[in-house]
Formats: sequence, structure tokens, C-alpha cells
Amino acid sequence: MASESSEQILQYVDAHCHLHDHRIAQDIPGIVLRASDAGVTRMVTCATMEANFGATATLASKYPAIVPCYGIHPWFLESLSPGWQQVLGDRVAATASGVGETGLDFMDKSADRDRQIEVFANHLSLARDLERPINIHIRKAWDAFITLLKKTGPLKTPGLVHSFSGSADLAVLLERYNLYISFSGSVTRPGAKKVVNALKAVSRNRYLLETDTPDIYPSIPDPDAHGLNEPKNLPVIARIAASRSGVPVPDFVRQAYANAREVFAPIISAVPHGLRLRKK
Ligand SMILES: [Zn+2]
Repeated sequence: MASESSEQILQYVDAHCHLHDHRIAQDIPGIVLRASDAGVTRMVTCATMEANFGATATLASKYPAIVPCYGIHPWFLESLSPGWQQVLGDRVAATASGVGETGLDFMDKSADRDRQIEVFANHLSLARDLERPINIHIRKAWDAFITLLKKTGPLKTPGLVHSFSGSADLAVLLERYNLYISFSGSVTRPGAKKVVNALKAVSRNRYLLETDTPDIYPSIPDPDAHGLNEPKNLPVIARIAASRSGVPVPDFVRQAYANAREVFAPIISAVPHGLRLRKK
């Protein structure tokens, strides 16, 4: 009973999700309520292209638990307007927000890698200039990412690599560039040995947890029939991640929460529900 009640007061920050996604747009009030009931006090929601900056901003202004990030996902570079750098820079500068989702994705062999690197480097500069956290997507592009980091040096303001899929060695290397390593529901997959090894290798003060809502539905007991992920699933992802890394659940969750407070400190206040951010 004692452990059950102590678990109930655990708090969570979902370090990366997409609440603007059209698949869940109708259900946002329910999603926010269920997240709150589950102890998820903040949801860092990432826009992915200029077309969803507005929807992301609306959500953040309506729900104090929603913390926005603005960026151009590497899948959507064709959507860029001629003035996108200004649009993005103005948006981030004017609001309490992070940068992202941005990054490199070389999964599709036909992707324009040079263009991805150029756009991502621009996001890194923006985060550095404005001293904001950056929410990074890297898939099959680790060498290019490390090459870029060697050029730029460690991030001035910490950022995170979301839904980490790299090796344990890579996780440790990225920490040296002032990056946090964020683990998603992929850590719950029965065959997730590589991800679990990375989780075990990462420093205690450098890991985060996320859902990537509405994607990466975790392997959990009693899944929802609709198969769309949501932040309320973060506690069960955390429980599985904790047991796989051999750390007691309350310790694991409290540390993840403390880490999230660190990395998102420039855009979330210590006051619950972001009251400080409501200033005009
Ligand atoms: Zn994402």
C-alpha cells in the first residue's frame, strides 16, 4: 500500500509529443484531463512545419500544461516558405517556447541530406542565440549529426535527442555536447535490447521520458483500442523502463522529472501550470 500511494504522487514531463496532430485534435480536452489524472504535469508539444505553428500556439495558450516547441521536421522541408527562418525566429523569440522538432533523417535514401543539414544547423543557431532548449530527431544520420556537433561545439543551452535509437556509446558521447537523451515507448518493446542498453549507459542526470503522441504506441498491458498514443501512457512507459534498467520506479521517475525540469527550465517556470508564462 505504501509504495502504491507514493507512486500516485509521482510527476512526469512528456518531453516530446505532437498534440497538434489532426488524428487527435477532437480529443484534446480528454487527453489533457487524462494526462493530468496520470500525473503528467507538462507536455512538450512539437510543431513540425509552419502550417502547424498556429495550432500549436493555440493549444499552448489554452492549456497551461502544454509547452510549445517550434521547428521544421526533416520530413517536411518541401513545405518551407521563402521566409521560414524569419517566421520561426519571430515565433520562438516572442513566446516561451523551445526549438524543434528538427533534425536529420536519412532513412529515405532519396532525402536531400545537404539541405537537411543546412536547415538543422539553422535551428541549432536559433536555439543558441535565444538560449532555448532544442528537441532533436535523428534517424540513420548519427555520423552527420556528430560531424555537425564537432563543428558547433556543445550546445549552450541543453537540448534533447528524442526517442533515442542509437547505441549506448553514442548516448554517452552526446551527453558531452550538453544533450539529454529521451526515451519513448520503444523502450517497452520486447526486443528493445539496444535501447535498454543505452538507457542503462546514460548518466542519471541526463535521461528523459516521452510518448511522441500520437505515435510510438508502447507495448503495454490493456492498450487502447484506437491505437493512438497519448501522454497518459507515460507512467506505464516509465515503469517498464525503470524495471528494465534495474532502478526502483519512484527513484527512476523522480530523476526523470528533475532532469526534465532542468532541460526545460528556460521555458517552464517552477510554478505549476506555467503561471509565469501567462504574462503578455
Ligand atoms: Zn516527434
